[in-house]
Amino acid sequence: MIKHIHLIALLIPCSLLLPTSSFAQQPKKLKTIIIDAGHGGNDYGAVGQYEHSLRSNEKDVTLAISQQLVIELRKQLPEVNTIPTRTSDIYQSPKEKANIANENKGDLFICIHADSGPLKTGRRKIGTRTVTRYKVTYKGKGRRKKKISKPYTVVEPVYECFKLPLTRSGTSVWIFAAHKTSDKLKAIMQEEGQTESEYEIEAGSDSSYNSFDFNSPEGRAIAQIYAKRYQEKSDRLATMVNEAIEPTNRAALGVNQRQKGIWVLQATNMPAILIETGFINNPEDEEYLNSENGQKEIAKAITNAVIRYKSQLEQARSNVQAN
Ligand SMILES: [Zn+2]
Repeated sequence: MIKHIHLIALLIPCSLLLPTSSFAQQPKKLKTIIIDAGHGGNDYGAVGQYEHSLRSNEKDVTLAISQQLVIELRKQLPEVNTIPTRTSDIYQSPKEKANIANENKGDLFICIHADSGPLKTGRRKIGTRTVTRYKVTYKGKGRRKKKISKPYTVVEPVYECFKLPLTRSGTSVWIFAAHKTSDKLKAIMQEEGQTESEYEIEAGSDSSYNSFDFNSPEGRAIAQIYAKRYQEKSDRLATMVNEAIEPTNRAALGVNQRQKGIWVLQATNMPAILIETGFINNPEDEEYLNSENGQKEIAKAITNAVIRYKSQLEQARSNVQAN
């Protein structure tokens, strides 16, 4: 049960809605990665609440892991520009975060979060207390009736309530899923023969997008092609991240998709994944997420996945060039 639902969003910006003729035959290189530390400032995200929790805040954990991730990516991939959305405890709206990604022309958007879920409440006896009660009787009748309260003591148990920790633990990866692929869309993609290609549109290379009608059937189809294209790349990276988590001996909970518009949609013009690094209300996970070792291990796993993704992307690129 995932209560803490996050939203990756790939609302297609107008600048992407180019006619098919302007699809540039330019395979991309992985040049810029945007790392988003989820939440921040007044937005605490999930908070450790179970009994004996470290009371940690998701916003702090995401920042710490993101900082380790930025360090690791810069070390392993010095040729790539790695840009964090935030490096301190500040609030940014999802729109601001997406703007940072788009303005920096990111090729990947990686959001770091921590998960939570509803906690059960337990109750236990912590002692006893002596309570005075009164036995009420009446004497006499009618107007002479008299109330008599006779005190007596009882010993009763004292309970306290506490929040049980989550038993669920592990890392899951989320991607935005486009709407169900229509037959028309399939036809367009087959016609173009680009279903599996690495081709990207050079956004903004054609000024005619200004007059492009988003609501036209063609406009919707092109938008969907985009979502589909990013979805494939997002899914590829998400799968690689999940696989990179496996050897860390923590649960790799897989790749999850969302289709419905429950997401707070924000425009990120690039493949995007969201990593729920662990459950803040699970004791082992909370400790792990707060430890430098844990933060570094997650950062290294994600970096390994990015390296794999990058080499696959650029391998595909050199294959295209060789043809
Ligand atoms: Zn979150």
